[in-house]
Amino acid sequence: MTMPTAPKPVRRVVIAGGGTAGWMVAAGLSKCLGQQLDICLIESDEIGTVGVGEATIPTLHLLHEVLDLDEKEFIQATQATFKLGISFENWRDVGQHYFHSFGRTGKGHWTAGFHHFWLEGRQRGLASDYGDYCLELRAALDNRFALLPDNGINYAYHFDATLYGQYLRRYSEALGVRRFEGKIVQVQQATAGGDITGLLLDNGHLLEGDLFIDCTGMRGLLIGQTLGVGYESWSQWLPCDSALAVQTTSVGEPVPYTRSIAHPWGWQWRIPLQHRVGNGIVFSSRHVSDDEAKAALLANVQGDVLRDPRVIRFTPGQRELVWQRNVVAIGLSSGFLEPLESTSIHLIQKGLTRLVELFPADGICQSDVDEYNRQARESIEHIRDFIILHYHVTQRADSEFWRQCRDMEIPASLQHRIQLFRDSARFAPVAGDLFAENSWVQVMMGQGIAPRSHHPITRQMDNASLGDFLGSIRKEVARTTMKLPKHHEFISHFCPAP
Ligand code: FAD
Repeated sequence: MTMPTAPKPVRRVVIAGGGTAGWMVAAGLSKCLGQQLDICLIESDEIGTVGVGEATIPTLHLLHEVLDLDEKEFIQATQATFKLGISFENWRDVGQHYFHSFGRTGKGHWTAGFHHFWLEGRQRGLASDYGDYCLELRAALDNRFALLPDNGINYAYHFDATLYGQYLRRYSEALGVRRFEGKIVQVQQATAGGDITGLLLDNGHLLEGDLFIDCTGMRGLLIGQTLGVGYESWSQWLPCDSALAVQTTSVGEPVPYTRSIAHPWGWQWRIPLQHRVGNGIVFSSRHVSDDEAKAALLANVQGDVLRDPRVIRFTPGQRELVWQRNVVAIGLSSGFLEPLESTSIHLIQKGLTRLVELFPADGICQSDVDEYNRQARESIEHIRDFIILHYHVTQRADSEFWRQCRDMEIPASLQHRIQLFRDSARFAPVAGDLFAENSWVQVMMGQGIAPRSHHPITRQMDNASLGDFLGSIRKEVARTTMKLPKHHEFISHFCPAP
């Protein structure tokens, strides 16, 4: 009887690529497991990075806590501003706006979320705008921000992606990560189609490893081009396949939210940083030409254009497997969902934390690989559904693009959630979903779903008690908002320019 061969321990980790993904992985692995690993990272100045990806969501705090980063130092190093949510303009219909905030709206009951009480209050003429019950939303629209005790305000950041990479590079190198500059020209494998053993650079350097992290961006040099793992396209649900990005000088004070402005064939973002503004347009090349999209983008930016816009092509979707043999794909090499809800950096963070949790120090086991792939698929599919919701539930019919979005078949998982909310304002919680009830409700109502009924518990309250309940939350939100300093004043006070 032959004994099974023991799996080979993993000591040498090679990270291919030094964009946001590469440096986040380098920082996280070196902080958590660095004493047991030899970690190196390869990046090519000639190829460069995708150069976008500047809006985040609050989960980034968890990574920064793990890395033990100083918040002031991070903000200064990356010219960051604070972000309280996203303003969706022209999505429900032309001229209609709503806000997806990071905060909690109102206070619910165990039987029913706050929106049920708000719907009842609105029916009885006792409720004002839904947003009046959310601190983060009111503060964002008033351009106010401060850190509050006991995590009293839920926030994320806008940051300069290049500066963030450089910041994490300094952090990682201080923890012993070795950086190699050069272009990977050959990927060496143990056998044809087998494990990767080394990456040869154009300067002759050969980097050998036990585990390779593919952070080479949309190329997917290791996972796709070398190991041949396929890519599942979701373009039947997500019609945009191109983007143009441009940086402009700042005019006026930065607002603490991202703007997402819909066009007849896509949408445009505006991300205010301390030193400049990031702008871009995401569009469907089947519905508009690059030149028209570029003209629309430039007609809608403020400030001077710092660099000519460049086109980025993409296929929305996910790698069929993100861990295959001894390669783990993290970042754009693993898949891409358009940045409508700023979720890609979060997915990098999830990929990294999952890798730390399942790290194969004593050798790669297929069960760990399968579990990693299962979790990765689950987390991106929930986000995919949330993004499809924005396109599908719309009253826009002013272009072929929007009519197609409205009429398309959507995943059954999403169909159920929409129908449940439409019928009874009920929210279907799904384990592992990044977005909680507050987010789904804001987007479903913001996109125009008016639930046919809501929970009967709300009818237990007479007018006086329901009015008091809603009024006290609204007053507290207004009072706290007015006490907050202006966003730009807070930044200059909290972390003055060095
Ligand atoms: P890249 O930045 O492309 O880095 C790839 C690295 O691999 C580079 O260092 C490159 O030099 C290296 N490389 C490649 N090939 C070789 C080779 N042969 N040899 C050596 N090195 C090589 N995410 C958000 O969370 N929020 C947003 O607001 C957001 N906006 C976006 C807008 C657009 C239009 C797009 C396209 C993406 C956006 N994203 C956003 C996603 C975000 O930009 C990415 O998730 C993030 O930048 C990570 O990219 P990456 O590191 O995987 O790839």
